Amino acid sequence: MKIILLGAPGAGKGTQAVELSRRLQIPHISTGDIFRHNIRNATPLGQQVKEYLDSGRLVPDELTLSIVTKRLAEQDCQNGFLLDGFPRTLVQANALEAALPTDVALLLDIDQEILIDRLSGRLFCPACKGTFHRSRLPGETCPECSAALTQREDDKPATVRNRLEVYNAQTAPLIAYYQQAGKLLKVNANQSVEEVLSACLQALAAWST
Ligand code: AMP
Repeated sequence: MKIILLGAPGAGKGTQAVELSRRLQIPHISTGDIFRHNIRNATPLGQQVKEYLDSGRLVPDELTLSIVTKRLAEQDCQNGFLLDGFPRTLVQANALEAALPTDVALLLDIDQEILIDRLSGRLFCPACKGTFHRSRLPGETCPECSAALTQREDDKPATVRNRLEVYNAQTAPLIAYYQQAGKLLKVNANQSVEEVLSACLQALAAWST
């Protein structure tokens, strides 16, 4: 099954993708994770994309498309994939659908007010890669492995505002695009992680019958 996860930054795409990928046995491909991995390892790609991620702007389509095209050509994508954070523009969606038509676009639908709070309270563990919310922790150490938690550069308030503006201008139009293509499955993401996961699984099961 070829699935796209759509939704604003902070809607829970990364969290849901990890579990959906495990249950559906398809690789989870996150363009944001690929870029961050390259930035951490100071690769030439990392150096090229760092300023875009730090400011919350989108990496240019051509560069993003070349990364995703290479990744989707790998063996583990033969039986499907779960795309998280891609496509993010109509140019990317058109290129993807022309090369490798997807089956469904699963939209994690969430209220905008919840997003700013979620994103700006989000803490990341550089050791075990877990994501936590400040309001649910007694301090700023990782509850899983005790490492010091950090904030993603692009979760800082000014960048969060910018990412939401970029989402509304460039990525939100993909909702209508996939609706018109008859591929949109909408899930209420204003719920707990477990409830959203079960809504996603139900929507996908209903689609495949
Ligand atoms: P994410 O982890 O999906 O929120 O992505 C973090 C950042 O990576 C975004 O704010 C963009 O700067 C960049 N990025 C991720 N995916 C894409 C994409 N499909 N197109 C352009 N830029 C992207």
